Amino acid sequence: MCRLAPAMREFIAALPKVELHVHLVGSASLATVLDLARRRPQPHVPTDEAELRRFYEFTDFGHFIDVYAAVNDLVTTGDDVAALVLGLAGEQARRNVRYAEVTVSATSHLRAGIAPEELDEALATSREQAKRAHGVELAWVFDIPGLWDGDFGVTSAKYATTHRPAGTVGFGLGGFEADAPRRAFREAFTIARDADLHCVPHAGETTGPDQVREALDHLHAERIGHGINAANDPELLRRLAAEGITLEICPTSNIRTGAVQNLKDHPLPRLLDAGVPITLATDDPGMFHTDLDREYLLCHEVFGLGRTELAELARTGVRASFAAPELKRSLLAEIDALGH
Ligand SMILES: [Zn+2]
Repeated sequence: MCRLAPAMREFIAALPKVELHVHLVGSASLATVLDLARRRPQPHVPTDEAELRRFYEFTDFGHFIDVYAAVNDLVTTGDDVAALVLGLAGEQARRNVRYAEVTVSATSHLRAGIAPEELDEALATSREQAKRAHGVELAWVFDIPGLWDGDFGVTSAKYATTHRPAGTVGFGLGGFEADAPRRAFREAFTIARDADLHCVPHAGETTGPDQVREALDHLHAERIGHGINAANDPELLRRLAAEGITLEICPTSNIRTGAVQNLKDHPLPRLLDAGVPITLATDDPGMFHTDLDREYLLCHEVFGLGRTELAELARTGVRASFAAPELKRSLLAEIDALGH
C-alpha cells in the first residue's frame, strides 16, 4: 500500500456512507473467529492468529468458498450470530457507515444447528442493539449460499419470506457461479419477489456477462453483486446504464479471491465511464483484511478518483439502497454539506 494523502483520508472518514454488499460471516474479525474456533475447535479452522491469517490466503475462488464454509460452521448459536452482528456494526460505526444491508446465509446457519426461531431472535435483538450502541441502521438480505442443490434456493426463499425478521429487505444469491447458472434459481427468486423482497443476486463475478444477463432476465435483479465482467460487453454496459442497475463493486475482494489479477486492471473505471451506477463495498472484510474507508482510498490512489467522484460513489450507494426515504434524504444532504 503506498502513501495515503492525509486530507483525502480525512475526507473519506467524514463521508457518511452506506454499505450494500457485506456478508455477516465474512465480516467477522480475526479476534472473533479465533474466539469461536478456540471455544469449539473444528478440524479445519486454526486457533492461532498467524495460522488463521495464513488460512485466509486464498489460492482461488473455490478455495475461498471452502474456507468460508469452514468458518460458517463455527457459528452454531444465536449468541454467535449476535456477536457477529455487533462486531460488524461497531466496525461500520468506526468507518462512518450509517446504514448497511447485511447478507445472511440463513440456511447455512440452520444447517449448522441454529433453530430458525433462535436465528430470528438473534437478528432482531442484535439489530436493535446495533442501532442503540453504534448508531448504525442494519437491514437484512437473505441469500442462497450458492450450493448446487435443487432445494437449497427454495428453502432459503421460504425462510426469508416466512420468518422475515425486522429489517428484512432483500434476497440474494452467492457462491461459486460456474456450477450454478443464475437461471436455475428462478423459482426461489419468484417466491422472494412475490413477497416484495428486493432481488440482489451476485453475477458476473467469476463468470462472464451472460450470467449478469441471466440475473436481469430470469431473477429480475434490481442490483448486481459484483457484475464486473459486464465491462467486457458494451451492449450490456449500455443496458445497465439505461436501466439504472447498480453494481456492488468490491475491489479488494476481487483481488483476494483471484477474480481480478491486478488492481490496476480492475474494470471499475470502465464501468464508471460507461455510466453504470456503482457502489463500493467490502464483501467479506474480516477475511480480506479491508474496510470501507480503505476501498474508497484505493479508488483515489489506484484509479485517480477525486473528492467529487468519491462523494458521487457515496451518493449512488444511498440512492441504490432500500433504506427509508427520510434516511436517504438526510444522508444525501449530509454528503452535499461536506463540500468537495
Ligand atoms: Zn459477496
